[in-house]
Amino acid sequence: MIPFDFTYSVPESVEEAVSSWFSSEQRGENPVYYSGGTEIITLCREQKIEPHAVIDIKHIPECLKINETEDYYYGAALTLNTITEKTSLSLFSAVLSRIADNTIRNKLTLGGNIMGRLPYREAVLPLLLFDAHAVIAGKEGIRSQPLSVVFDKRLLLGKGELLLGITFPAKTDAAHWVFTRKEKNGRIDYPILSVCFIKENDSIKMAVSGAFAYPLRNPEAENILNRQTLSPLQRAEKVTDYFADYYKTDFRSSAAYRKHLLKGAITEALEKLED
Ligand SMILES: Cc1cc2nc3c(=O)[nH]c(=O)nc-3n(C[C@H](O)[C@H](O)[C@H](O)COP(=O)(O)OP(=O)(O)OC[C@H]3O[C@@H](n4cnc5c(N)ncnc54)[C@H](O)[C@@H]3O)c2cc1C
Repeated sequence: MIPFDFTYSVPESVEEAVSSWFSSEQRGENPVYYSGGTEIITLCREQKIEPHAVIDIKHIPECLKINETEDYYYGAALTLNTITEKTSLSLFSAVLSRIADNTIRNKLTLGGNIMGRLPYREAVLPLLLFDAHAVIAGKEGIRSQPLSVVFDKRLLLGKGELLLGITFPAKTDAAHWVFTRKEKNGRIDYPILSVCFIKENDSIKMAVSGAFAYPLRNPEAENILNRQTLSPLQRAEKVTDYFADYYKTDFRSSAAYRKHLLKGAITEALEKLED
């Protein structure tokens, strides 16, 4: 049960959603944008948040659009299952289809995964490798900014801003990719390591989650990864040492074990992609 009252609105345009957020805020209602709602409902039940205005974004066309022609575009309110069914990007699909289970993926949305409180946010990994931009709506209008700028540990949205979707040029499925996910208790557990690699123009890119407290792509680590004078194992050792301060320890796994898993994943990925 949710132990407080709230208003529920279903705007049909971006402008309506943003202005609804600001008028609710002015009334002191602590508004939230509501996408799949799984995290919001859980946090409300646990009384960790108390929004008195819930703004459902699932009727806003820009949040539901999917396009794979010139520029790729995925609306923030698309469920993970809708994207895996429709996308031609096999890496994107491989990553999303490993989050939670099939039933839950009918609820979880792209925007919810990117904006959620859990550290994993695995949908971000392929998007970092695709050099994606976040399309963001706010009081001042709509802007598109590279994730490399606007994603630092989390998506840096301003007050009342709404993530409309994610876009990137129609280029890559990077046919050459590797995705490695390791869990402690079976396939649908949270990952203790989730790492994606793509090879593009003879250069290998990597984005990591699960082992760290947030999804990360790091240019310095990629430089080491691409030093072909070193063997795959030597590069894996150097990259994993470079990340020495990033590994987290929790009840699922120690930092040392996460580092060990990442080293194995990097070695295998380099061997495969450079074969
Ligand atoms: C059983 C289960 C297993 C899971 N396993 C994994 C896993 O293995 N890997 C992983 O990465 N994640 C996992 N998750 C996390 C999950 O992906 C996120 O919690 C989830 O995606 C929330 O999506 P939602 O659409 O329900 O978000 P909501 O509950 O609607 O929103 C979550 C937060 O994001 C904000 N928000 C949502 N959309 C927008 C938007 N467009 N603009 C601005 N703010 C927005 C909301 O205001 C809220 O603060 C799991 C979740 C569950 C329930």
